[in-house]
Amino acid sequence: MEEIKIVFHQKYLKYDFGPGHPFWAGRAAPFLEKLKKYKIPHEILVPEKASDEDILLVHTKDYLNRVKRLARECGALSIDTPVNPDILEASYYSVGGSIMALEHTLKGERVMNLLGGLHHAGISDSSGFCIFNDHAIAIRKLQKDGKIKKAMIYDIDVHAGQGTQEIFYSDPKVFTISLHQDPTTLYPGTGFASQKGEGAGEGYNLNMPLPPGTGEKEYLQALDSVLPLAKKFPHDVVVLVLGVDTFEEDPLASIKLKEETYQKIGQRFKKFAKLAVMCAGGYSRKTPDLWLSFLKGYLWP
Ligand SMILES: [Zn+2]
Repeated sequence: MEEIKIVFHQKYLKYDFGPGHPFWAGRAAPFLEKLKKYKIPHEILVPEKASDEDILLVHTKDYLNRVKRLARECGALSIDTPVNPDILEASYYSVGGSIMALEHTLKGERVMNLLGGLHHAGISDSSGFCIFNDHAIAIRKLQKDGKIKKAMIYDIDVHAGQGTQEIFYSDPKVFTISLHQDPTTLYPGTGFASQKGEGAGEGYNLNMPLPPGTGEKEYLQALDSVLPLAKKFPHDVVVLVLGVDTFEEDPLASIKLKEETYQKIGQRFKKFAKLAVMCAGGYSRKTPDLWLSFLKGYLWP
C-alpha cells in the first residue's frame, strides 16, 4: 500500500460555523484516528498560513477587506456562511494547505488536504460555507511561480462549484470538470451543461448535472465518461474536489452513493500520477468512513 500525505493543521478544527450548522468542523479528528486504527501508512504535513498576496491571486482586494471586516464584526458573507476571527484564520491555513498539497503532488506524492476544495468562493463574493477558493489560489500560485502551466480540476462534490467556475471561466489553462446534482434541484442553482466557458476558455468548463436519486451505476458511468478527457488535455497537475456529500445518507443532497462506491471512485483516480485530493463537502456522520473508503481504492495495489 502506498503512503498518503495528509495535510492538516490544528487550526482546521476552528473552521466551525456554530451549533446547528451542517458543516462538521471536527470531522478531521475521527478520520486521523481511523488512519491509525486501520494502519494506513501516512504522514501529516502541517501547512503554513497563506498570505494576503496569495489570496489576491484570485479574490479582489475589496472582497478580502470585506471578509476581514466581517470577521472582526462576527458577521456573515451570506445567510449560511458566518465569519469570525477563527473561521478567517482557518481559511488562510486551508489555502496554505492546498498550496502545500499541490507542491507535494508535483514531487509524485499522494496528498490529501483535509480542509480544501472550498469551491463556492468566487472572485468577489461567496456563500456555501466557503471563504477563500483554496484550490484556485493554489493553482494560480504555482502558475505564477513557474511550477505548473496547466491544471485540471475534477470536482465531484454534490454541489456545483460556481466559484471555481467563475474564476477559470475564460481561462484555457485550467480545465474544470464538475459532476453534481442537477442545480435546478440544489444549491447553488447554477452549473448547467450549457455553461462551457467563454472566450479563450470556451470548451474548458464542463458541467455534468445528475438527477436527484442517481445511484452508483449511473454515477460511475458518468464519471467514466469524463475521466478520459484528461488524456486530451496536457496538464501538470490534477485537483480532485472530493465532496462526499453524494452519499445516500447525506442530509443536504439527494445523490445515492454507498460507502463502497467511494472505494470504486478511489480506484479510478489511482491512475493519475499527479493528483491532489481536497476534502470538500460531506455532512453525514459517516464522512470519515467515506474518506477511508476512497483511500482503500486509491492506495491499495
Ligand atoms: Zn457540497
